Amino acid sequence: MSSLWRSWSDFINSNFWFEFRILFDNNCIVTEPESIFLSPHTIPPEAVNALLPGFGEASHCDVHLDRESIQWRAQNPKLFANGTNALLDPAICQRFLDDIHARMGVAWSYGGYLEDRRHLLQGCYLEKAGGFVHLGVDFSVPQGSSVAAPRPGVVFLVDDDRDRDGGWGPRVFLKLEGGPFNDFILIFAHLQGISVQPGSRIPRGEAFAEVGGPPNNGNWMPHLHVQAIRSDSLVEVLVEKFAELDGYGHPDRIGDLRETFPDPLPIIGWK
Ligand SMILES: [Zn+2]
Repeated sequence: MSSLWRSWSDFINSNFWFEFRILFDNNCIVTEPESIFLSPHTIPPEAVNALLPGFGEASHCDVHLDRESIQWRAQNPKLFANGTNALLDPAICQRFLDDIHARMGVAWSYGGYLEDRRHLLQGCYLEKAGGFVHLGVDFSVPQGSSVAAPRPGVVFLVDDDRDRDGGWGPRVFLKLEGGPFNDFILIFAHLQGISVQPGSRIPRGEAFAEVGGPPNNGNWMPHLHVQAIRSDSLVEVLVEKFAELDGYGHPDRIGDLRETFPDPLPIIGWK
């Protein structure tokens, strides 16, 4: 026993013993207590509906997909028996998500800003550079769900990244207008049915697209990816390095990435 613990009861009450028990309970999978997966449901339904019309009243929670994927993999070993990452199959990834939602008792979930997804996405195109840090927030709602503008803005680019190996799919770049939000651009990705074009003004809460599905959304399970860009990075990111723009970055660059791609949740009004 370490001298850090002066008595047996110190040891029993220590973080070390607590973490060891979790490790043991989860068959040697490093994880954390369930409570940390959830954040308080403090988002006003009206704010949710301004981005995802109709979802404000449905139960939802914040999910850490990478931690969840470690547990799910341990619970479904047959799916991973041939050594490949079954979660890269969008249909299997949807089952994974459905299981999380069923366990949490929620209809949908969101989260993932600066989450390192090296377990969830092991073996995908990111493996080469090791850049598994997610730069946006994912909203896991079904294909066909309406997507609206959480703040008023002007569309300045609509395109379709046809990469089927982790691409963006159809996406919309919205330059926000009004107050402190003038400084931000939001990218909405993995869409379908886009009804706006460059120059379109979108009022707050007006739907302009739907959540897409595989393979046309980049071949992911259906979800909406929202990523913010600070306007002063506009030229660098959207002109000089447009081809390099991705939803993931390298952990060594986290400081820069956080500056260029800030947390979208406060910008859309969810924090
Ligand atoms: Zn994403």
